[in-house]
Amino acid sequence: MTVRNPSAHVDSWYSRSATPAPAHPRLEGRLTADVVVLGAGLTGLSAALELAQAGLDVVVVEANRVGWGASGRNGGQVIFGYGCDQSKIASLVGLDVSRQMFDWSVEGVDLVRERIARHDIDAHWRNGHAHVAIRPRHVHELKAWQRDLVENYAYPVQWWDRDQLQAQLPSPRYLGGLYDPRSGHLHPLNYTLGLARAAVAAGVRIFEHSPVLSLARGARPRLLTASGEVEGDFCVLAGNALVHGIAPELDDKIMPVGTYIGATEPLGEDRARSLIRNDMAVADINWALDYFRLSADHRLLFGGRASYSTLPPPRLAANMARRMARVFPQLHGVKFETVWGGLIDISLNRAPHWGRLGDNVYFAQGFSGHGVAATGLAGRILAEAIRGQAGRLDAFANIPHHNFPGGRALRTPMLVAAMAWFKLRDALW
Ligand SMILES: Cc1cc2nc3c(=O)[nH]c(=O)nc-3n(C[C@H](O)[C@H](O)[C@H](O)COP(=O)(O)OP(=O)(O)OC[C@H]3O[C@@H](n4cnc5c(N)ncnc54)[C@H](O)[C@@H]3O)c2cc1C
Repeated sequence: MTVRNPSAHVDSWYSRSATPAPAHPRLEGRLTADVVVLGAGLTGLSAALELAQAGLDVVVVEANRVGWGASGRNGGQVIFGYGCDQSKIASLVGLDVSRQMFDWSVEGVDLVRERIARHDIDAHWRNGHAHVAIRPRHVHELKAWQRDLVENYAYPVQWWDRDQLQAQLPSPRYLGGLYDPRSGHLHPLNYTLGLARAAVAAGVRIFEHSPVLSLARGARPRLLTASGEVEGDFCVLAGNALVHGIAPELDDKIMPVGTYIGATEPLGEDRARSLIRNDMAVADINWALDYFRLSADHRLLFGGRASYSTLPPPRLAANMARRMARVFPQLHGVKFETVWGGLIDISLNRAPHWGRLGDNVYFAQGFSGHGVAATGLAGRILAEAIRGQAGRLDAFANIPHHNFPGGRALRTPMLVAAMAWFKLRDALW
């Protein structure tokens, strides 16, 4: 992972192709607002935008740049659902609430499309997403998932057998797939920068290069940085996997995990289109999954390595190229021009961890690597709760969450060991 300057955007195909965006000042002195937000990723910006559109005065405080975290680096796959299976959510909150939550997740996908259109964001949106099967076990799992989605959630995903899938995705690796025309993919950094532009137009004040050092809780919560502080009636914590020590009871509920992606050299339009003819995004359903899609300038964006120790894997580009050639043997010898990584915030059960601390500090975390659409929804739901309609946030706050076992010192080695088992399962069955 190349970082040119610790506070600039990580070097990625996204930062190289980003729409120019204004810099925001550092937080200096004492400010007040109705709502203060920690973090200018998709969660914080979505909440800020919704609140400002409702007439509230909002300040966002960001340690680095807008979109510096996962929001500006991710795979760009905009998919319904959450980081865990919907059946897991049903087991935690019951089928009726799970049905509502599923519908809200689809609202999150639609919200992305609506915001791109409404705020005229150059986000390179493309329709279509497929979850694909590598092994016969995956075919059974995907068909069972389709039955669950259709019967319990009235969501019409399509099963494509091998021939149907190969007509769009001519890779020898896959046995079939579940296709959703409503999901899609986008340029995540441009989308995040576009949301920031919309938020500023709605009156939000954003401060960059202003790491929050502490949160003073009380009747009016305060975010404190080295050179300033901002106080509000309400606070939103949206620091995801990157925040630490601001609200320790939240830190123990998530585990930062490194995940990696790269962009090939340009392939040319015809060659790129021959790989994914309908331009959909694709993800397999292995535990250590591969996911990929085409960029607007005809590269393959291919992601898939995870690091539970958060240390970047060695020889990342070569390793990515090997994985890519398993999917597309015709790309043997094609090089990755850039590879980069970021952190995701997994919760122990992979379910979203959204709620409030006391009366006036709200948070959303635990997106578990599935947040491009869900973050927009989370921001909207936090904003609703701050404005007095807490029904949807309360539903999420009722999902039980446990601390990672092993405490600070042991949770990483324990997770690494557990993940090794899941990877072995991918390889064997
Ligand atoms: C490589 C990668 C690929 C991914 N692919 C996909 C995908 O294809 N589809 C999908 O749905 N999801 C994907 N995800 C997950 C998705 O990107 C995230 O769930 C989502 O972007 C989280 O948004 P966020 O706003 O909550 O967090 P972030 O975008 O991480 O934003 C948090 C912000 O808070 C700031 N911050 C932290 N601490 C402080 C502090 N003390 N003071 C001030 N600011 C602070 C950070 O600098 C950061 O800008 C991927 C993630 C990664 C890393």
